[in-house]
Amino acid sequence: MTDVPFLDLSAQHDVVRADLREAFEDILDSSQFVLGPHVERFERAFASACDTSECIAVNTGTSALHLSLLAAGVGAGDEVITVSLSFVATAAAVLYAGATPVMVDVDPTTWTMDPAAAEAAITPRTKAIIPVHLHGQMADVAALRDLCDRHGLTLIEDACQAHLAVRGGKRAGSAGAFAAFSFYPGKNLGACGEGGAITTSHEQGADLIRLLRDWGATERYHHELVGFNYRMDALQGAFLAAKLVHLARWTDERTELARRYDQRLDALGIVRPRPAPDSVHVYHVYAVRISARDAARRALREQGIETNCHYPIPIHRQSGYVDRVRVAGSLINTEQCCAEFVSLPMYPGLPESAVDRVCSALKHFAA
Ligand SMILES: *Cc1c(COP(=O)(O)O)cnc(C)c1O
Repeated sequence: MTDVPFLDLSAQHDVVRADLREAFEDILDSSQFVLGPHVERFERAFASACDTSECIAVNTGTSALHLSLLAAGVGAGDEVITVSLSFVATAAAVLYAGATPVMVDVDPTTWTMDPAAAEAAITPRTKAIIPVHLHGQMADVAALRDLCDRHGLTLIEDACQAHLAVRGGKRAGSAGAFAAFSFYPGKNLGACGEGGAITTSHEQGADLIRLLRDWGATERYHHELVGFNYRMDALQGAFLAAKLVHLARWTDERTELARRYDQRLDALGIVRPRPAPDSVHVYHVYAVRISARDAARRALREQGIETNCHYPIPIHRQSGYVDRVRVAGSLINTEQCCAEFVSLPMYPGLPESAVDRVCSALKHFAA
């Protein structure tokens, strides 16, 4: 029996249920099911939340990464530096663009891209860098932006886990040339289905992305480019706009739960997230590192506590990817994270007493 689930969206649903019903009725009456005014309203609100001038809503976070790469001019024969400590979509999007993902290691405390490792991996074929804001913690975007400026590269944020995160005064989504967000249901801002978006302040890039998301059509049946069907559904736009109103409060709730985890886990000597100074970590995932990871997860399961692992196998060791990515330098920190990560329950509505129960169940698993 599970009495502390890993994720429970019901507290979020209760708050927006009436808004979702109203949006559903409105769209059913209008019969405009794809793009349209609900999606445009969400785009304006999300751009403003991310401190950018443009937001282009699409069907998934993966499509958002793909179109960001195409807008950056990435194509066949190019290399894109990224990390292996991510969901496979980060590398898949680079492959969809015809380029090669080049994997570099993460920083051992923030678990995000190590800028020095990225710099060492640059070759004449490098076109872009995609740091992943893992678990809701932004990568060192100031150092990476400086690196991109010095080498003429494009910085693309994989912000799929980092809605409203901040580092060095920059919001996730506004720190690079382009950023990709996912609204998969379990993300901090989740659709009632699939969804994604690109944020940018480059007007020309935004125009190209808008063209590519809708079959490269400048007007109906006039196709300037070979584009994609990456459009967002009207229902998802309306649902996301309704939920975005509550996102700051839900994020504060995650931060407060994280503080409680931090205090109790520090007392136990367990390795927990270390937000960089001057940053806001939005805790899409609250992960700890435990060397006896499998035993710890088993012990928690026996006490009715569900956990997860983001991610147990790095991308460069996935059999579908092993021959298609290049590994640059040692990935020792990546490997250690994958061997030791345990994701603990974290969602708005998680009772504080559940946090205490999880922590006391971890008592014997320090180091
Ligand atoms: C969820 C996620 C994606 C992919 O988003 P989808 O909406 O599922 O396509 C990409 N990168 C990261 C880091 C993610 O967490």
